[in-house]
Parts: sequence; C-alpha cells; structure tokens
Amino acid sequence: MAQDMRHPIESGCPDGFQYMHPSMRRNYGQWKYHEHPRPGVLLHVAHSGDKLWTVKCGTQRILDVFTLRKLTEIGDKFADGYIRFTIRSNVEYVITDETKVEPLIKALEDAGFVVGGTANSVAMISHTQGWLHCDIPGTDASGVVKSMMDELIEEFKNCNMPNRVHITTSCCQINCGGQGDIAINVQHTKPPKINHDLVANVCERPTVVARCPVAAIRPAMVNGKPSLEVDEKKCICCGACFPPCPPMQINDAEETKLAIWVGGNHSNARSKPTFQKLVAAGVPNNPPRWPEATAIVKRILKEYKEGAKDWERINDWIDRIGWPRFFEVTGLPFTKYHIDNWTGARNSLNASTHIRF
Ligand code: SF4
Ligand code: SF4
Repeated sequence: MAQDMRHPIESGCPDGFQYMHPSMRRNYGQWKYHEHPRPGVLLHVAHSGDKLWTVKCGTQRILDVFTLRKLTEIGDKFADGYIRFTIRSNVEYVITDETKVEPLIKALEDAGFVVGGTANSVAMISHTQGWLHCDIPGTDASGVVKSMMDELIEEFKNCNMPNRVHITTSCCQINCGGQGDIAINVQHTKPPKINHDLVANVCERPTVVARCPVAAIRPAMVNGKPSLEVDEKKCICCGACFPPCPPMQINDAEETKLAIWVGGNHSNARSKPTFQKLVAAGVPNNPPRWPEATAIVKRILKEYKEGAKDWERINDWIDRIGWPRFFEVTGLPFTKYHIDNWTGARNSLNASTHIRF
C-alpha cells in the first residue's frame, strides 16, 4: 500500500549547499582559522590550504530589481557568480583570489554601496517588513533603517565600537520584531478604536476575544449588530487584536509612538544571553527621517563607545556601570514607568504552549 501513497511536492527551504561557493563547499567544516584583514573583509583559511576572502556590503533589505541586478553583475564579475544574503540584509561575495579584493570593494563603492559591517562595527540594522509588505505596521521599517544608517554610516564602515552592535527595528508591537543591543520598536499608547459597522462582516469575534492577553475584549451588540467592546481600563495597547480584526484600528499618526530598548543579546559567547530593557518611551514616530529616535540611538552609541571596555557588549557595559549611571550618561529621563513592577503575568498572560485558534 505504501507505494501508492500520494507524495506532496516538497516546497520547503531548498538545500543551501547548492548555492554555496564551490571553495566553501569543498572546505565545509574544515577551517583552520580566520582573520579580519580590514573592515568589511574576512579571511578564512582551510586545513587544505585554501584561502577565502569574504567581502560584506550593506543593503537596506527591500531592494528593487535594478539594484539586485547591479549586485549580481558585480558577483558575476568578481565572485564566480556567487552571492549570499545575510540575516542582516548584507550581501557577501566570496573570492579565492586576494588580488580581486580591492577591485571588488572599489566596484561596490563606485556603484554606491557601502562595504563594512564586520567585527566590532555597527552591523546593518535588521528590520521587519514595514509599509511595503505587511498589513499591520504602525511605522515603516526600511525607512527607519535607511535614515538611521545614513547617520551611522561611519560606524558601519569602520570598527571603532568596543564590540559588535546589533540594532533592530520593528514596525508593530507584537509580531516579528527582534531584540538587539538597541531595538527601536513601535509602541501604541491608546486602546483600539472599533469600527462597529465592519466587525460583523470582517472579524471572527471569538478569535479576537481569545487574542487579548489581558481579557479586555468582550462580544457586544452595537446598533443591533454583533460587534465587540474593549474594557479600556484593562487594555495595555498591545495591538494583538488588530491583525485578526482590522476594524479594531490601533495605528494612529499621533498616538503610535516608538520605544527604544537596549541590552538584548542572543549570543552567549562571553556572557549569558539577555533580554532587552526599555529606556525611552513615547518617542515620536516621525517619518521620513525619524530624527528623534535617531538622536537617542546616536547618544547611546556615543556613550557606549566612550565608556565600555574592549569586547563589552552594550548589556555587559550596563551591567558593569549600573542602570542609574546609564541613564545619567545618556541623559535619558528615568521615570517610574521604566520599573517593571507588574506581577500579574503568570495569572493573566497566555504563558502556556497550547496553540489557540
Ligand atoms: S513587525 Fe509587525 S508590522 Fe512589522 S512586518 Fe512584522 S508583523 Fe508586520
Ligand atoms: S490592544 Fe491588546 S490589550 Fe488592548 S484590547 Fe487589543 S489585544 Fe487587548
């Protein structure tokens, strides 16, 4: 019977080996050591004696087809037709001939790209989709990246930070945003406004009720139609009800703000992984250049650069100097709202691993 069973077409992530540079494939798992000859370039030496130079160049992630063609043409010319995107939207070219390193960097810079982002630099800001790709953002993400990286370009091109700095942005408060040394995340400050005329046609009311982490949403009849109501005293303005029910409009040009968090670290290379912590709230969500958020990020980076010891990540630096000193040197106001004194999470948040529909 088994051979008669239907086999679905495999549509998962393809095997990455087929896209690797042949020299990388040949030496996979056989590396002897690596060096960092200059910002934006890594040298890997294999036990076989093969040497590979990786040249890293930044992009803003959401790319038009013309820019992609330009990048791949450079790959055809210098890197045997191979190109690789990193999770921080950098493009990496792998070459086996040292004499091509400088010409490749020149070709990239002549075409308007920036080489850097290695070792103790500010890496490219990782970002979520923003206005272009997602249906629930409260701000753009690639726009924030572009405007911030324009001002941090020297920190991307050079390795002047005490350690690597990962910055992330997130264009809603609840979904795919990451955490990092510094994170710029959306912060809603008002409960959702409900368009009652649309709820009955658009929303699965039980799904929306189940979404709320603090049980603030109840079914209600409004103007004779089934709708929903929000207990605004309980609402924490998380925005979780908006994706399953767009008539629960929470994005707002004035009331949707940005919050800045610091000290998140996934790595456990020198110290344990840490969660990021809120340091600035209610920052204006101010496109197209987000000057207020950028000024805070630059201020934090300046103090970190001057005050941290070599190889301290931002969380290590703050651990050493303490939070009062962090707020003192960065000039950020410390308020009672920075203190996480809420004890109700265990009782009221959906903290189980059960999947709810
Ligand atoms: S962070 Fe939120 S708004 Fe941004 S892409 Fe992810 S789900 Fe969409
Ligand atoms: S914004 Fe969050 S807390 Fe408020 S009603 Fe919606 S899901 Fe509940």
